[in-house]
Amino acid sequence: MTIVNFMPLDRRHPVALELLRSHLDEAARRVAEEDVLLVVPASATDVAETLPEGSCVTADDSFGYVYANDTACAQLLKGEKPLPSAVSGTTSDVPPVISGESWLSGAGKKIVYVGDTRVEAAATTTVGDLLGAAGVATAAVKAVYLDYPQCQFVTPAHFTDEVTLSCDEAKAIGSDDCAVEAVRSILETFRHESCGRCVFGNEGGHQLFAIFTDACTGKGQDSDIALIRDLAPVMAEQSLCEIGQKMASVAEQALDLFGDEIEQHISRHQCPTGKCRALVTYHILVSHCNGCGKCLDACEEEAIEGKPKFVHVVNQRACTHCGKCLDVCPKGAVVTAGLKKPKTPPHPIPCRVK
Ligand code: SF4
Ligand code: SF4
Repeated sequence: MTIVNFMPLDRRHPVALELLRSHLDEAARRVAEEDVLLVVPASATDVAETLPEGSCVTADDSFGYVYANDTACAQLLKGEKPLPSAVSGTTSDVPPVISGESWLSGAGKKIVYVGDTRVEAAATTTVGDLLGAAGVATAAVKAVYLDYPQCQFVTPAHFTDEVTLSCDEAKAIGSDDCAVEAVRSILETFRHESCGRCVFGNEGGHQLFAIFTDACTGKGQDSDIALIRDLAPVMAEQSLCEIGQKMASVAEQALDLFGDEIEQHISRHQCPTGKCRALVTYHILVSHCNGCGKCLDACEEEAIEGKPKFVHVVNQRACTHCGKCLDVCPKGAVVTAGLKKPKTPPHPIPCRVK
């Protein structure tokens, strides 16, 4: 028997499940002819009810990555973790597992979402071609992250290199995006998708996620970078399955590729792209402020100085970066800044605009 896996790798774009939904008749015919058992997410009740009885089992899809890595999936198939009993009870040997997408589409093709754009690509392609097919200008991208199970950052210098795709999503990190926040978000996804069974994968992953979250919220400590360097190799070696190893790899790749940006967040509490809300500074532009006073009323820290028809000014020492002034300003006069700060007056001056 072969297990055909339709569990989602990407919840927003479950490629294999989408394909199954659009090929239900074909799947129903083939399960009668082939020695296969389909694993479909428990939430896809419409699919399970349509397929012939006994041809599929449903699996808890509260976590998904475990079904896409060999070690964890083998453990699951032995019944060591929540698993469809029809599979776990059948044999102590582990049947081969193949992806639902390759079962339906055949080898050589791959559907990948670049952001929300669906791209039908050759399984072996280049990241540059993938971006081009999605209409993303390569000049505006500083790296592309090929999602789980690849977990690989590709930088512009390698956009023309051949890569064989196994992921369902490619995330483009724009030149104006914060790479540290991007890594934090990737690690957060791992936290939701892993089974939580091993100390090094689970606790190590939690630690890495906490470090990158702290970096984005101004709580980073100088020792954090050394901690990542110490922790990642141990996770790679000791985690029970590939999920912990991939998390470690993501963190190490991030340090190698975005080391300066990470260091600025952790050691200097600065976000060079001005995207991490807790790390940016807030400023009021003379060219836009009409002195209405809404920001002053909204600021609970009394960090804004001003009076009617005068350009208001943010006191950087008192500002706690809550962003309320930005949200209430009707003139778009409040802006955030990373390393490059706009010129603003030190004290309120008469407004130029109404
Ligand atoms: S910054 Fe905006 S909200 Fe504040 S006084 Fe100027 S125009 Fe009004
Ligand atoms: S970001 Fe918050 S604390 Fe800072 S000036 Fe604006 S409202 Fe006040």
